[in-house]
Amino acid sequence: MELLKGSTVTKKINEDLKQTLSSWKGSLPHLAIIRVGDNPDDISYEKSAAKKMEFLGISHTIYTYPKTISTQEFRTAFQKINEDSSIDAILLLRPLPSSIDEKEIAEIIHPTKDIDGISPINIAKIFSGEKDGFAPCTAEAVMEMLSYTDIPLSGKTAVIIGRSLVVGKPLSMLLLNQNATVTICHSKTKNLPSICKTADILISCIGRPHMIDASYIKENAVVIDVGINFDENGSLCGDVDSDNITQASFITPVPGGVGAVTTSILAKHVLKAAFIHQKLKD
Ligand code: NAP
Repeated sequence: MELLKGSTVTKKINEDLKQTLSSWKGSLPHLAIIRVGDNPDDISYEKSAAKKMEFLGISHTIYTYPKTISTQEFRTAFQKINEDSSIDAILLLRPLPSSIDEKEIAEIIHPTKDIDGISPINIAKIFSGEKDGFAPCTAEAVMEMLSYTDIPLSGKTAVIIGRSLVVGKPLSMLLLNQNATVTICHSKTKNLPSICKTADILISCIGRPHMIDASYIKENAVVIDVGINFDENGSLCGDVDSDNITQASFITPVPGGVGAVTTSILAKHVLKAAFIHQKLKD
């Protein structure tokens, strides 16, 4: 069994990005990271995203707002960033506090700045298989990890546990576009272990520490653990009990797995957005 580390997968992506940036003409690509409130998960993602941008030499600005901000105030602030021609890309940390209508923000974000695929236009592009939009970074990071294994996806049975718009649903479309046969499971799914046991590729996006044990895993399956949780000792862990699984061909660790790839995909999307904006300005 091979441990599929994020650092291994990102090496080539980071090299390619650095090379593209070394010959970049004009102002550097600029990412706006927007956070409302002080959710520790958001702060942790914001730090990793900022660190990756600094490592690669992409400029970024972090905008923070109090949890108490009204919908009207946030909409005004968001529109200012959205309309700022010096900003190529926007990462909005979600979920937003319930006092803000997230759907409304997803509808106003410029699709060409929407590098985490929240606008209805980008969602539709994933469903129709168009390549000029933006998929959510985590879903694309999973595809990047699968691509690294060199296992052809066509005809493979893929089971995704989790149906969120951030990961599960867009990922199902990306896998379908690669001709995998896809099943999506969720909290109401019956006989979850036996369905998972049919999977050549099992992707867990649940958010339950170590729920997926060896009884869910087919011989030689590729297991991708998207979950980010804390165990009973307060240590970071995934959904998969990877220490006690031996039959998989590849398994991703947590920490050091999908999360590391996600920020590299984010950087890749910033460059793609900046490139689109340069073309629009020409
Ligand atoms: P979410 O919106 O809470 O969705 C969780 C999904 O898991 C739901 O579809 C839910 O089913 C399903 N689920 C919950 N308990 C289940 C159970 N016992 N059996 C089967 N399905 C179950 O979470 P999310 O935003 O998709 O994130 C999922 C996990 O990925 C979290 O741990 C999050 O921190 C992590 N994450 C990681 C990254 C990264 O870059 N690595 C990025 C984003 C998220 P229902 O729909 O029926 O409720």
